Amino acid sequence: MSIPLAELPEDRSFHREWFKIVSPRRMVPIQVGLLSQDFTGIWTHFCNHANRTVPCVGEAHCDRCQVGLHRRWKGYIAAILSTTRQPVIVELTEGAARAIRNDPLYKSGLRGCILTLQRKKPHKTAPVFADLQGPIPGANVPPDFDVLPSLERLWQCKPADAGSDNDVSIN
Ligand SMILES: [Zn+2]
Repeated sequence: MSIPLAELPEDRSFHREWFKIVSPRRMVPIQVGLLSQDFTGIWTHFCNHANRTVPCVGEAHCDRCQVGLHRRWKGYIAAILSTTRQPVIVELTEGAARAIRNDPLYKSGLRGCILTLQRKKPHKTAPVFADLQGPIPGANVPPDFDVLPSLERLWQCKPADAGSDNDVSIN
């Protein structure tokens, strides 16, 4: 009996509808390779009751706006972790997104760029510093994906699929 040879299987880590959302915690930096050309911006509130970020549905309809809760802008972009190449969605603070937009690399698109995010102080809401490096020549950049389905599922804008193996989380 001969042993059949096999081609390297296709990477199935991208064959999923929902991706984990990451942001730097405490002072531990995270480094990612960016897949999207630009980030997607959303107004949010921090819900103390649920201890997490929730979307603002627009000032006219939003219960949290009605009671005067402060709105916070967040940016989201598809990426892979530099350490494991796991596909993730990176959450950006307004300050980090502004630093990225002010970087000369932003003009030619973010896809392929290496982004390092780090809180410089230990508290949870300390400013996040963003460092952007240019694409590595010849690097294999996986395909881009849409961040909205993961956010809609996290925020229960759509019914969650009980069959998912994703651990979408946000802080
Ligand atoms: Zn609101």
